[in-house]
Parts: sequence; C-alpha cells; structure tokens
Amino acid sequence: MQSITILGATGSIGKSTLAVISEHPQRFNLFAVTAHANVAEMLSICARFNPTYAVMVDEQAGIALRQQLLEQRSSTAVLIGPAALLDVASASEVDTVMAAIVGAAGLLPTLAAVNAGKRILLANKEALVMSGQLFMDAVARSGAELLPIDSEHNAIFQCLPTAAQQALGQADLAAHGVSKILLTGSGGPFRELPLAELAQQTPAAACAHPNWSMGQKISVDSATMLNKGLEYIEARWLFNCQREQLEVVVHPQSVIHSMVSFTDGSVIAQLGQPDMRTPIAYGLSYPTRISSGVAALDFSQLSQLTFSTAEAARYPCLALAIEACWQGQAATTMLNAANEIAVEAFLGTQIGFTAIAEICDRVLNEIAVIPVSSIDDVIAIDQQARQVAQRWVEHYRLC
Ligand code: NAD
Ligand code: MG
Repeated sequence: MQSITILGATGSIGKSTLAVISEHPQRFNLFAVTAHANVAEMLSICARFNPTYAVMVDEQAGIALRQQLLEQRSSTAVLIGPAALLDVASASEVDTVMAAIVGAAGLLPTLAAVNAGKRILLANKEALVMSGQLFMDAVARSGAELLPIDSEHNAIFQCLPTAAQQALGQADLAAHGVSKILLTGSGGPFRELPLAELAQQTPAAACAHPNWSMGQKISVDSATMLNKGLEYIEARWLFNCQREQLEVVVHPQSVIHSMVSFTDGSVIAQLGQPDMRTPIAYGLSYPTRISSGVAALDFSQLSQLTFSTAEAARYPCLALAIEACWQGQAATTMLNAANEIAVEAFLGTQIGFTAIAEICDRVLNEIAVIPVSSIDDVIAIDQQARQVAQRWVEHYRLC
C-alpha cells in the first residue's frame, strides 16, 4: 500500500488523481487531502475516500468542514491553516505527495515534501519556476524522488533513457545522447484569432481550451502561452537543459505531448489522449504501469498532426519567460508573481487580456534582478513583484 497526500485535492489535477486512485483501492491509501476553501467538494471526497486528514487553508471553511464531518460521524480529522499543508506533506506516514496546489501557494508545502524525502508527483510548476536550483538541490540533498506530472515533462521523462531519468536534474543530456528537448504546446484558444481582437477576449473565451480541461489559471496561461513559458523554465530545471537544448513547438492537436531528439537523428515522442490521468497514473506506479481509465489513441480517427513555431506578436509572454529563464531565478520568480496577479485581475474582469503580458513586462523591467540564495530571498522577490504588479493593474484597469 502506498500512502498518499494530495495537495490541492479539489482542483482539476486533484480530482484526476482521485479518479486514478479509486481504480486501484488495493494499491493506494489516502492519508490526507487539502484544499483552499471548497467545503462541498471536500465533504464529497471525505465521504468517498475517508482520508486520515483533511486540511482547509481558509479558517471559516475549515470550521464549517469540521462541523459537517462531525455531524456525519466521519473519522477524518480536519486541520486548519497553511501550516497544516506542510505537516501533511511531510508526515512520516506518507510515501507519495501529489503537489497540485495552483500557483506560489504550493511552494512551501511542496518543498516540505521534498525535504522530507518523499516521492513527489510535481504538477505545481510554479513552485519549481520560483525556486529552480534551490528546489533541485533540495531534491538531491534529501533523496526525494521527483516525478514530473505536467504532461509535457512527463512525456519527456518517458522518452529519456533510464539512466537520465534516475539522475533527474543532474544528468548531462549530451552525455546521454540527447541533442534537444522539444516542448509541444497547442497554442491555446486564440491561435487563429485576428491579432486586433485579442484585447477584447473575455475570461470565458480564454478558459475554453480546445483540447484540455483544466483550472482557470492554467487555462488563461495557455491562452497567453505563458504556460509554455513556465514549462520551458520547468524543463530547464528538471532536465538540466542548456539554452540550445530546449525548443517550443506549436502542435494544435495535443496528441504528441512532447519529444526528445537524439544525436543519431532519432526523435522519440510520447503520444496519448489529452487527459491528465495518464501522467498521474505513470507517476503513481513508476517504474511499472497501471490502468489510468484513459482509452488508447484511435489512429483511424486521427486525421493529421501539424506543427509550427509560436508567433511572437501573438504570444509576447512566451518570449518574456524564455528571457527570464536565462536571466535567473529572481526574474522567473518576478514573472510568475506578476502573472498570478495579472491573471487574477483578468479573471475578475479588471483588466483586458493583452494587459497580462504588459504587466509582466513592466514588472520585469522595474525590479532589479539580484542573485537568489535562499527560499527567503525567493519569497521576498515574489512579494515585491506582487506589489509592483498590483500597481500596474490599477494603471491598466478597465473603465
Ligand atoms: P485548480 O485551480 O483546478 O485547483 C487548484 C487547487 O489548489 C485546489 O484544490 C485549490 O483548493 C488549491 N488552492 C488554491 N489556492 C490555494 C492556496 N492559497 N492555498 C492552498 N491551496 C490552494 O488548478 P489545476 O488546474 O488543478 O492546477 C494545479 C496545478 O497543476 C497548477 O500548478 C497547474 O499549473 C498544474 N497543472 C495542471 C494541469 C491541468 O490539466 N489542470 C496540467 C498540468 C499542470
Ligand atoms: Mg503542461
């Protein structure tokens, strides 16, 4: 029995993880689930899975959940507040932690799991984007086992030789015969929209991803392609890439989840349905395979696979992220923070769609890039960038 904590159990990745676990009750035991404030969803998870702990970050929601579970005579104990996230991520009873909180809020709980030497199923890309080298160093120090869940990184991981998989973040790609990592992305819902119409796009339109069903924040990031930018930074750390070893390819069908190009001219790709249960099942059972509930691809139904490069004018956020990646961790932390503030303002209809990239650019230009040597440094830069971004939200606020 593998004992599991799901950080962000009420979200899109959290629910897909629960779906895979529910197919294998003899293999997986749910130790803890966490959420920000969704009481109804947590009640339903506790009724179905009976975890030992349920953590609510929001205090009022935590009190309400505790009350209702007591009334239902549930044996699940409720813990309240952000510190409890760290406790259930690092508890000695836990083998595997699914890191699926969205955004910077996932950083400290994910690091707690890393420092406790757990198997980490990493969906929360923002944690790695912010803490980069510090995160990978902590993995190496603690002996934690890091498995990428983001579909592209999971695909790349599957395509790599076993020796490179086992030295994740440390392996010299060239020494393993790898010449390039090709990160694929669909281009999002606005790939073919006339550029002049981008500024008027609504949150509903931005969240209507053509292939994937995901949380709101990552859906907006897919529309700006900052998601691919964050993934580029994520790949740089996970696979220890040099600049010339990493490339973004637009592939609208999302059938190929990413590829690895080798020095002998071979290119290995991982293909599948756009369904996160596949990478989640892979992470849960690595190095063996279990069923995920996802059907295999039906090649008689696939008409074509197409590829192109990302248009610079359509996706300014992607170029900002690639630049930030090679500037260093202060820049990637700032970009991530600015984007979180801008996306939240866009989802709240305070700013227009194209203001997201402008706010990210303003923040990157305004704050000096300093060396980062600790998680405290990362958190300080994150906070500073949020304040500056908030000021720019006021500047771009829609009348
Ligand atoms: P989501 O919005 O659906 O769910 C987010 C989860 O985080 C929820 O359980 C929520 O309660 C919790 N949460 C939100 N704010 C919190 C806070 N301040 N403190 C503690 N918990 C908080 O998001 P998602 O789409 O499931 O994405 C989760 C992560 O996985 C993101 O980092 C995303 O980039 C990554 N990811 C998602 C997908 C996908 O298909 N959804 C694919 C690849 C990577
Ligand atoms: Mg992805």
